[in-house]
Amino acid sequence: MNEKLHKDTATVHTGYDSNSHHGSLAVPLYQTSTYAFESAEQGERRFAGEEEGGIYSRLGNPTVHVLEERMTELEKGAGSLAFGSGMAAVSAILTHLTKSGDHIIGSRGIYGCTFGLLGIMERKYNITHTLTSLGTEEEIEAAVKPETVCIYIESPVNPTMELADLRAVAAVAKRHQLKIVVDNTFASPYLQNPIDFGADFVLHSATKYINGHGDVIAGLLVGKDKDEIEEIRGTVQKDYGGIMSPFDAWLLIRGLKTLAVRMHRHTENATKLTDFLKTQDMVEEIFYPFDDANPQVEIAKNQMSAGGGLVSFTIKGGQPMAQAFMNHLGLIKIAVSLGDAETLIQHPTTMTHSGVPADDREKMGISDGLLRLSAGLEHADDLIADLNQAFEKVANEEEALSS
Ligand SMILES: *Cc1c(COP(=O)(O)O)cnc(C)c1O
Repeated sequence: MNEKLHKDTATVHTGYDSNSHHGSLAVPLYQTSTYAFESAEQGERRFAGEEEGGIYSRLGNPTVHVLEERMTELEKGAGSLAFGSGMAAVSAILTHLTKSGDHIIGSRGIYGCTFGLLGIMERKYNITHTLTSLGTEEEIEAAVKPETVCIYIESPVNPTMELADLRAVAAVAKRHQLKIVVDNTFASPYLQNPIDFGADFVLHSATKYINGHGDVIAGLLVGKDKDEIEEIRGTVQKDYGGIMSPFDAWLLIRGLKTLAVRMHRHTENATKLTDFLKTQDMVEEIFYPFDDANPQVEIAKNQMSAGGGLVSFTIKGGQPMAQAFMNHLGLIKIAVSLGDAETLIQHPTTMTHSGVPADDREKMGISDGLLRLSAGLEHADDLIADLNQAFEKVANEEEALSS
């Protein structure tokens, strides 16, 4: 097939031909650690890279390979690598791109463990970083130093939903020859393709929307240069060893098939929840990329095809009120992670970002009343009813306290 497939189709078909697998419609699970060679000489050729084929599953596995091909197609890259977690993908690409003395520019408000990793790199290897909002060229330009090597972006960013302007980042990166890495977990490859906007690498916590069913921890890295991806496969990935298991790849292949339909429903539900939250007196601020009141809505619409499934909001009364509100929810589960069928709510100050010092959290725009909702696949009316009864209960409690 030469014609470019729609993403909805690529998630189902790319990288697999059932005719070469006894007609098996489902991608087979090659649950093996090693591969028998037909002869000593074949083993020699495989190790020398002269012949395609299996050697050992840390270096490649046919089931994992199908997932990698699908991701390459979905993110419009030239090659992909599968990892045992999103953080394994983050640490692999940052290790690949930096050496001691280098400097990284990152999104302000970033995944908590990525923030932790940047701290380790600074303390142990003198690789420094500047976190800034990446909304305008001037802001990004101001953070560039002679030793800067890459710009590490999350957009929308966790958990404040602030956006980086991908075109502005690309303009600055081009001037200074910096590599661009985008953590595209929140948008999913269905709603945003950073390589279209000049990114060199795109990574995902596949734990989230790619899998979509809350039963796997995994990561994926896509690059626009095939040779560089293969270099990482043969160095940082092989020798640090944070690979994906074949069974997890098999589950991800299954989850990925419904990405398109899921993203439509996640977006529809998040939009309805945003509209409901706007009607609530206890809600102070709402952060949703495609909300018309969002000052960055133009940037969102320029680089995303829809708003996605995450909405954050601040509740009046800070941490005590945020926690009381969560405790009154029934259908909506109190849990970190996102992109699952179940709607989840979490409190960044005491959960995902509790490891970030309070003053850094403040710089990231994470207040103690901030809550992050991951809209699931349920009927929106049931979710709204749950939120509504929790708002009523905290309002009544507050009234009782103040009277
Ligand atoms: C979850 C997440 C990660 C880390 O992924 P794991 O699969 O948990 O290791 C990185 N970035 C973002 C934006 C995430 O949501």
